[in-house]
Amino acid sequence: MNTASRPPASPLKVCIVVPCYNEEGVLDHTTTVLLGELNAMAGAGLCTADSFLCLVDDGSRDRTWADIERLAQGEARILGLKLSANFGHQNALIAGLFSQRGRADVLVTIDADLQDDVNVISEMVRLHHQGKRIVYGVREDRNVDPLGKRIAARVFYAMMKRMNDRAIKGHADFRSADAGVIADLERFNEANIYLRGVFPLIGYESALVRYVRKDRHAGESKYSYRKLMSLAWQGITSFTTTPLKLVLYLGALMFVISGCIGLWIVWGLATGTAVQGWASTVMVIMLFSSMNMVSLGIIGEYIGKIYKEVKQRPRYIIDRTTQQPHG
Ligand code: UDP
Ligand code: MG
Repeated sequence: MNTASRPPASPLKVCIVVPCYNEEGVLDHTTTVLLGELNAMAGAGLCTADSFLCLVDDGSRDRTWADIERLAQGEARILGLKLSANFGHQNALIAGLFSQRGRADVLVTIDADLQDDVNVISEMVRLHHQGKRIVYGVREDRNVDPLGKRIAARVFYAMMKRMNDRAIKGHADFRSADAGVIADLERFNEANIYLRGVFPLIGYESALVRYVRKDRHAGESKYSYRKLMSLAWQGITSFTTTPLKLVLYLGALMFVISGCIGLWIVWGLATGTAVQGWASTVMVIMLFSSMNMVSLGIIGEYIGKIYKEVKQRPRYIIDRTTQQPHG
């Protein structure tokens, strides 16, 4: 028997947080699978028998909350949490994590569609038994995503890596962390939170587990391209000020180019071949005004973020919960 499969000293209480936005019809299967996983882990002495699921309804407009209430009624290990509105995936995750961190040793986050491999959860918990504080689920390939999304993800992660060297390639929001780490996470008080970027900043001893990402089991992706683009933009602008620096470089480059154009015009005047310059004038004006607009847009984005942070609005509001699980 190798060390990895040795039964741990004392089982950990695990809470699996599942953000749910318009996931009606998906949750019966999801909870069955996840409870099965908890049973298996409890059987192996990895987690306690009262380990539980926390289903966070992120202001769904369909019957998701009714589904959650029904599921919670028949099973003490399911806790439902209803947010008062749609706060977004990241905020739904922190609502679950922050509200449950006092009730569990290890908190796992996984999407409701179970595209991530649930078998990996036991590996995560095992790693916590070995002293790891954060375990990142890393997908091996993105073959199931449409080509456009795959290319976009490639480009995005390559860019992120350049700008933030702690970014973990292929990691989304499938991870586990112990309650102490979540307490530390609570001190990251930013309104524009981007968890996959923030966790690596927390530090501690961490580990990666690899898995192959599957097709969405049922329902449709809640991430339209628009939402995906917005998440990527969030990732960039809440992590680095590199775009601002790029604007500066671009400005410097444009300055050199305009200098060259200026020399060319002076040379034209000197040799008497000038006057025809209407096109070049318009071109220069357009180039500069567009550059100004891009720069202002990027700066505006950061100012918008500052504005949001300054207000210190709550990131989520819990409307109601189902019966608390025992313990
Ligand atoms: N989600 C959420 N709030 C939102 C959008 C999505 O809580 O505003 C949840 C959704 O229910 C799912 C997870 O976030 O559990 C990831 O969404 P999805 O599977 O649609 O994203 P994809 O896998 O396509 O990137
Ligand atoms: Mg999904």
